[in-house]
Amino acid sequence: MGSNLGDRTANCMLAVSMLSAFARVTAVSSVYETEPVGPKDQPDFINCAACIETDIPPEGLLAELRSIEDALGRVRSGRWRERSIDLDIVFYDGLIMNTDALTIPHPRAHLRRFVLEPLAEISPGLVHPVLGVTVSGLLGMLKGGERVVKTAPPSVLFPQKPTGY
Ligand code: ADP
Ligand code: MG
Repeated sequence: MGSNLGDRTANCMLAVSMLSAFARVTAVSSVYETEPVGPKDQPDFINCAACIETDIPPEGLLAELRSIEDALGRVRSGRWRERSIDLDIVFYDGLIMNTDALTIPHPRAHLRRFVLEPLAEISPGLVHPVLGVTVSGLLGMLKGGERVVKTAPPSVLFPQKPTGY
């Protein structure tokens, strides 16, 4: 997830707590401040990653994520523009799918340090089902890329005791 409008960390924290309404949050990453990819005339992002367990299929999950985005006041101002919150599905088990609404794994995740750094913290050994490379392997293959700096520990996003273990 990512936010670069308003109280960015609070937006992510609220999004994580709203995930708990329909899923079991089993891990959350630290909080990262990251340089925007695409247009540079916008504020830096706060990014983080969460691992959830849910029975909801991918399309339903996307609908739930959109309703969290709406609840947190996201205005759709265009691709790669500033937003109060963006919630994307990076992986869903080992699923590979490509429809008009949904591409899983997320088609650009393996190219983005702001995705891979938080993900590597919670799921380093997760294998990208198309590329056959682990998340930590993908991170190691990235050259340069945007600036990504850890700014706060996972407990800032998820003060509740994890119930997943
Ligand atoms: P982006 O996240 O690419 O900056 P949006 O959040 O506005 O842009 O998403 C645009 C559309 O991307 C969504 O309406 C959704 O249908 C589609 N989409 C395709 N694959 C995914 C995915 N893996 N996770 C989230 N949205 C996705
Ligand atoms: Mg999105």
